[in-house]
Amino acid sequence: MGTEYYTGALGQENIHILLHAMGHTLGLDDFYDWTPTGAGGFLMKAGAADHVTEFDTWMARDFWRHLKSRYGIPA
Ligand SMILES: [Zn+2]
Repeated sequence: MGTEYYTGALGQENIHILLHAMGHTLGLDDFYDWTPTGAGGFLMKAGAADHVTEFDTWMARDFWRHLKSRYGIPA
């Protein structure tokens, strides 16, 4: 995804593709073939949500929690 798309998306009402891409910059993976139990729709399952969901925020926190513990960074 190029810079032109990013800057163009900032003026749009529905920016779920931009939000999905931003999730990748935070280290989150795509979820195309699997929906975690009880998660419902969320941004990193492309097309399943149009806003940041509670599950997206949980995934971001969980990813960074594991990263910190892997490198011995105190919580
Ligand atoms: Zn993706």
